[in-house]
Amino acid sequence: MTVRTRFAPAPTGFLHLGGARTALFAWAYARHHGGQFILRVEDTDVERSTPAAVKAILDAMAWLGLDYDEGPYYQMQRMDRYRAVLDDMLARGLAYRDYMTAAELDALRAEQTARGEKPRYDGRWRPENAAGKTPPEGVAPAIRFRNPDTGAVAWQDGVKGRVEFANAELDDLVLARGDGTPTYNFCVVVDDWDMRITDVIRGDDHVNNTPRQINIFRALGVAPPNFAHVPTVLGEDGAKLSKRHGATGVMEYEAAGYLPEAMVNFLARIGWAHGDDEIFTRAQLVEWFDLSGISPAPSRFNLSKLNWVNQEHLKRMPERELGERLVPYLRKAGLDPAAGPDADAVAMLLRDRAETLVAMADAAAYCYATPAVDGAKLAEQMTPAIRASLADLHAEFAALEWTREALGSAMKSAAARHGLKPPQVMMPMRLVVCGTTATPAIDAVLALLGRDTTRERMAAALGI
Ligand code: GLU
Repeated sequence: MTVRTRFAPAPTGFLHLGGARTALFAWAYARHHGGQFILRVEDTDVERSTPAAVKAILDAMAWLGLDYDEGPYYQMQRMDRYRAVLDDMLARGLAYRDYMTAAELDALRAEQTARGEKPRYDGRWRPENAAGKTPPEGVAPAIRFRNPDTGAVAWQDGVKGRVEFANAELDDLVLARGDGTPTYNFCVVVDDWDMRITDVIRGDDHVNNTPRQINIFRALGVAPPNFAHVPTVLGEDGAKLSKRHGATGVMEYEAAGYLPEAMVNFLARIGWAHGDDEIFTRAQLVEWFDLSGISPAPSRFNLSKLNWVNQEHLKRMPERELGERLVPYLRKAGLDPAAGPDADAVAMLLRDRAETLVAMADAAAYCYATPAVDGAKLAEQMTPAIRASLADLHAEFAALEWTREALGSAMKSAAARHGLKPPQVMMPMRLVVCGTTATPAIDAVLALLGRDTTRERMAAALGI
């Protein structure tokens, strides 16, 4: 049987890290097994669902490269189908109309709580109890599922192992509210059935829904899919991940200069492992992914790990591609990529020092615009010998063969001629040309910036 998984987000906000990780696992599982991945938008919460949130989710999935084979399906477009299944369930006695009013339900709850019992529906409109009762006027009935009274419902969870609930613990679930709107637990069953989902991989906040959904599947005579519930993603402090922990929306990481391939790698490693492998490609993830690699314990988000993973991916990226990725970040930093050296070369020079594309673009500023040189800092370093050596170099650079090697030896010999150590020339050279001493090897930087830019900046700083 072809594996079919789905991601079923509610479009009530951006795609957060936990949701993205769930989507990634469902996607990777389908791809690993040569199956299909389906996107379903669960938009029945009309008040909180927005088109902007749908777009945010689609954008985030596109950015992460989580391509889907079917969908997006929208639950709001499937209302007729849900109603048809409800009618069928009513006709077959699998569900019934519950005429209990809100006031009666409140009273029942109050009594049960007073007796120290767990509030639950008392079954008063179950078919066997409703016989002979006249439905009250003016009450729009909810439709409830006739849950089995006895026995247990169990499944072999792909992550948690065997999970079992006693039917006595499960209420008669509301399938549709009095106003006719079907509920989440019901729509999900109809959808997973119609969409022929074989494996439901979702967050473990749904574990309590699963026995209810399995009972509905069984009542309908449909074999339930396999279920795997993945543990929550926690913040670094072990608390539930929230805004407090910084960026929680996936696309905020794009803005912050993370590579989507690094994000995929990092998200996969939150709660999943393949031996000791830390850095891997999307293709490797697909090759290796299976549920057995998912840890049943909650895992924590770790920003320094993300930074490391991102830098490792920056380092592994082919030159051309890295340059292309850098260009939009240069523009966002207000730099004109045409006003300096080729972005490929700049990226290659900076990638060992930058953890993100934003940091790389910041560090690249002196390649595309004349930096402001801090006069006081420069004055501190400018001994007469240093000034003289830089002035020498300025003259010598006019005709020097413009290679990293030639530049390096020219600076070393200028230092020696003036009784200085090479760093005593190279540090002020950095300041003069780049406006900062935090640069890669200065011979490489000058080689990249070119003769004219280098000499102009030297002349300006030295007043020559
Ligand atoms: N729409 C549900 C959610 O956002 C997911 C339902 C499911 O995966 O079964 O959590």
